Amino acid sequence: MPPPALEHHSEDRISVRGEPFRVYIDRDRIRSRVEELGERISRDYRDQRPILIGVLNGAYIFLADLMRAISIDCEVDFMKLSSYGAEKISSGSVRSLKEIDADITGRHVIIVEDIVDTGLSMEYILDTLSRERPASMQVATMLHKAAATKVDLELRYVGFEIDNLFVVGYGLDYGQVGRNLKDIFILDASV
Ligand code: 5GP
Repeated sequence: MPPPALEHHSEDRISVRGEPFRVYIDRDRIRSRVEELGERISRDYRDQRPILIGVLNGAYIFLADLMRAISIDCEVDFMKLSSYGAEKISSGSVRSLKEIDADITGRHVIIVEDIVDTGLSMEYILDTLSRERPASMQVATMLHKAAATKVDLELRYVGFEIDNLFVVGYGLDYGQVGRNLKDIFILDASV
């Protein structure tokens, strides 16, 4: 029998697909940071009814929490890009698998991502959505790997700047495993 895809060894150590991960950002820190971002967005967009565009699949948990931390009127829509599959390295090629349904012309758009790594996905999203002529467009990303980012992007709302290592949990997967973990775990290179 192969080992289970997700194994809990202790409160802060797990294996995903046989590889060791440890807690990196716990649920309490995530919750308070998301609250802060929601409050900032509520202030910055008062009277503007922004539309949050979630990038599937990874961003859906962050988006659900962020939207409830926003106290002003806002809308939501989704887009989907091709993913890593079961790889841990960014493939660098981005494809659209689902486009947004909403008409964003003249709207205030906030793109909601789980993580900006090389930045190529976000560059593609910004290029694609800017053709619809939104009134404004900003990015909210839960995580940013600054050391890995190859393109110049303005990231207005960033949850955490993180090390250039692979992470899972809080919506982020490793080959579809680990999205439902409440904390963010990082690959444990020391093991
Ligand atoms: P980028 O185009 O910026 O290189 O990568 C963006 C996408 O790659 C993210 O939306 C996410 O799906 C995936 N990704 C990048 N880094 C990680 C990581 O450390 N863990 C996981 N699970 N996915 C990642």
